[in-house]
Amino acid sequence: MQTLTLAGQSLVSVGLMLVRLSLWLALLSVVFVPLERLFALRPQKLLRKDIGTDLGYYFISGLVPSLLLSPPLALLAWATHALLPDGLTQTVAHWPLWQRVMVALVVEEIGFYWGHRWSHEIPLLWRFHAIHHSAQQIDWLVNTRAHPVDMVFTRLCGLAPLYAVGLASPLAGTASLVPLLVLAIGSVWGFFVHANVRWRFGRLEWLLATPAFHHWHHANDGPAYVNKNYAAMFPWVDRLFGTLLLPRDRRPERYGIDARLEPDLVGQLLEPFALWHAGAPLPIADGAKVAAAGADRVKPMG
Ligand SMILES: [Zn+2]
Ligand SMILES: [Zn+2]
Repeated sequence: MQTLTLAGQSLVSVGLMLVRLSLWLALLSVVFVPLERLFALRPQKLLRKDIGTDLGYYFISGLVPSLLLSPPLALLAWATHALLPDGLTQTVAHWPLWQRVMVALVVEEIGFYWGHRWSHEIPLLWRFHAIHHSAQQIDWLVNTRAHPVDMVFTRLCGLAPLYAVGLASPLAGTASLVPLLVLAIGSVWGFFVHANVRWRFGRLEWLLATPAFHHWHHANDGPAYVNKNYAAMFPWVDRLFGTLLLPRDRRPERYGIDARLEPDLVGQLLEPFALWHAGAPLPIADGAKVAAAGADRVKPMG
């Protein structure tokens, strides 16, 4: 009886999450569909190739990672509360919320950067991350095209440092608020940087990630252009670690990867687990060409 009640409660909460996700989808569509019509970088149909798969990913990305992330985050909260020196957690806990969120965005970005970079450099992780790069047409909805394992891994890489430096400390009384706000800001920003819009923002593009910045991350223009722009919000983190590519007046000619993935959603979700399947080849940059391209292209923008 108790099991049935628990199952019923779980169904209701999943149902509520689906309703909330549908409302968010409607809101995001109202914002991005007209913007992509008015300011399109490339002419694309609304009902483009893979739109159905990406809508599937939208709901999976909204449901599964948050369920999978809860246990490791609870463990992190417990461990850091037990291990961090009281002085550190007390100091951070007394910062105002806005200050904790600002610092948390930077700390999270550095963790995310390395998680994302490892997802390009380590074959086992690339198996899962290749799905995000399989899109040949980029628009706001491509933000959600990601395997749940990929999402959980990169989010954990971003959130773990927040706990490690006491930014998600239970002492603050708003323990989960900082990571929640960081995730919410990151999610909205993720839709923006994928949008099919031609806007440029001058020197601001060095400070905050824009569509021009992230679209290079999806470029399939040859070895000199791969493994660039890993950051989610702050391009200067890529500058710091030597992976920034931000040409002043060029855009990628092609997006995607050459490998063929399974065409349907279920196949794509299962494929990375198939032991007999080698997965998509790693995107290997040509070192010499990258250095030349970087020297030529990473110039301040006007
Ligand atoms: Zn990537
Ligand atoms: Zn992307």
